[in-house]
Amino acid sequence: MTDALLQVKNLVKHFPLTGGLLARVVDKVHAVDGVSFELARGETLGLVGESGCGKSTTGRCILRLIEPTAGEVWFEGKCVTAMGKTELRSMARDMQIIFQDPYASLNPRMSVGAIVGEALIIHKLTRNAREYQDRIVELLETVGLSADQMRRYPHEFSGGQRQRIGIARALAVKPKLLVCDEAVSALDVSIQAQVINLLEDLQAKLDLTYLFIAHDLSVVEHISDRVAVMYLGRIVELATARELYTTPLHPYTEALLSAMPVPDPSFKRKRIVLQGDVPSPIHPPTGCHFHTRCPKAQTDLCRQQAPELKQSSDGHWVACHLRS
Ligand code: SF4
Repeated sequence: MTDALLQVKNLVKHFPLTGGLLARVVDKVHAVDGVSFELARGETLGLVGESGCGKSTTGRCILRLIEPTAGEVWFEGKCVTAMGKTELRSMARDMQIIFQDPYASLNPRMSVGAIVGEALIIHKLTRNAREYQDRIVELLETVGLSADQMRRYPHEFSGGQRQRIGIARALAVKPKLLVCDEAVSALDVSIQAQVINLLEDLQAKLDLTYLFIAHDLSVVEHISDRVAVMYLGRIVELATARELYTTPLHPYTEALLSAMPVPDPSFKRKRIVLQGDVPSPIHPPTGCHFHTRCPKAQTDLCRQQAPELKQSSDGHWVACHLRS
């Protein structure tokens, strides 16, 4: 990839588990286990996987809302993971996050205008009160809200409108990268579509790049240029959206796709039901993390050796011994 805005190299995040009277570290949660990918300017990468697979932790480590245990994050050629506090604070303007629960992330005691305008004050982005007010109105209108709503409070808005407020707040600092962390997961399907359409319009208008995190493949299909599938802290498949949805190579992706609703009810897709639950990330299975549930597992090799994420065809990467 020539014009990478973001590069994630071998990212690892382990959360220590403490126990006993002295609160010693007794174990660790392997939340992210060597994740690497690049994101081109103007691209949308969907990051998908079941709850607890490490996708949100990956997003937060990229922004350094959580400190990674190991690995590197590069943004526009600068190493984010090596930055000190001051450099990181100015870099934070370029990388913003939109959260799943817009209500929890909006201060209920602040008016919508104050919420959207907060970053303008923190980063000194407007010169006077007039400019400040005008910019808030501009941001609200950009996300489909109106100027007369700026004096209202979050509880007066619907879930979809609250997510629009969250987007307006993120846009206030003119970011280049938006991490959308399950940004539409809590919304009804029709509202999801409206917010996704809004994000697509904003991307075209403002030249934004998205890391779009979701637990559902059907949510990211429409918006993503490429999709990465995660399982227990690792990326198991990464391809263009068209290729991943039509020619999946990893047994886990095949199972996720088989559970997706199809628009034509006369078309019957064979459902692959995975046995058991996702294993604990405290003691993930040896070898291929998916071997305990994989319908195609090859006994010893899968149990003992972790498959590398390898390029199978142009731009299509998969981590599975069957594809090596
Ligand atoms: Fe299944 Fe083995 Fe491939 Fe893992 S490496 S996905 S266990 S076949």
